[in-house]
Amino acid sequence: MIRAKTFQSQKPCKRGHLGLRYLSNKACVECEQRLSLERYHKNPEPQKQKHRIWYMNNRDKISKQNKEKHLVFGRRRNIKTSEWKKKNRNLVNAATAFRRAAKKKATPDWLTVDQKEEIRVFYAKAVRRVLEVDHIIPLKGKNVCGLHVPWNLQLLTAKQNREKGNSMTDHVLV
Ligand SMILES: [Zn+2]
Repeated sequence: MIRAKTFQSQKPCKRGHLGLRYLSNKACVECEQRLSLERYHKNPEPQKQKHRIWYMNNRDKISKQNKEKHLVFGRRRNIKTSEWKKKNRNLVNAATAFRRAAKKKATPDWLTVDQKEEIRVFYAKAVRRVLEVDHIIPLKGKNVCGLHVPWNLQLLTAKQNREKGNSMTDHVLV
């Protein structure tokens, strides 16, 4: 997990990203994220192991954060979704708007048509297989925000997604 401190840069990086930089080494956050995701896809085990250790060390904090999050987003889990949605139209709309805004901000404008299609197919696959789409690096992390791009998406079961804990869960609304 990336837990580095960042600042807003006034100058674009060499790839033209005008955004967050790490305080420690002034590296472009977006470039670093892409690199680390490429590394992850090539060899996921070391990072998964790191995440497991991080999770074990932060379990109490994560469960407290989750409880707070569930007050807003999570209550419908034990209730039939369609019934719950009808009674809580406002909450559903708010949650949808929140996700939409987060995604829009996180979707880079250099994404190609093919890559956007790849995302759409990914979501369709999630619906078909009754899985949830998760952003490997959360769209709204504490110190760093991931991107809404194909290589930052993974399919998780609802249980795995809950266990991941620190991410903004992304429920597929059908
Ligand atoms: Zn960059």
